[in-house]
Amino acid sequence: MSTIFAKIIEGKLPSQKVFENERILAIKDIHPVAPIHILIMPKKEFPDFQSVPAEDMPLITEILQVAQQLAEEFDIADGYRLLTNNGYNAGQMVFHLHFHLIGGRRLAHIG
Ligand code: 5GP
Repeated sequence: MSTIFAKIIEGKLPSQKVFENERILAIKDIHPVAPIHILIMPKKEFPDFQSVPAEDMPLITEILQVAQQLAEEFDIADGYRLLTNNGYNAGQMVFHLHFHLIGGRRLAHIG
């Protein structure tokens, strides 16, 4: 079944895009937890990070590069969190791989 992010990638649902190329889309989160809350995702469908095969890891590297770029662009390079919720027990809600780029305020310490 197609996820809400697949529909956004296809242009069937609206979103606030902040980056796009042939392989990657980054959009503003609809329910931001901080002043900057961006979702960076591959256009190719993977349900979660754990299911990304070794041959697709260059795509993950590219996503991480996009995160660096966006951190500069949104002026949060001095403090941000970049994370993916992997699986139900981690609180994943949308089963199309995405990374959260969160910043713009002092974030609570985790770990
Ligand atoms: P997850 O819990 O799967 O890691 O995160 C899913 C994220 O997607 C949540 O932060 C949620 O606010 C966001 N989200 C859910 N539906 C939509 C939507 O239709 N548009 C956008 N831009 N974000 C969404």
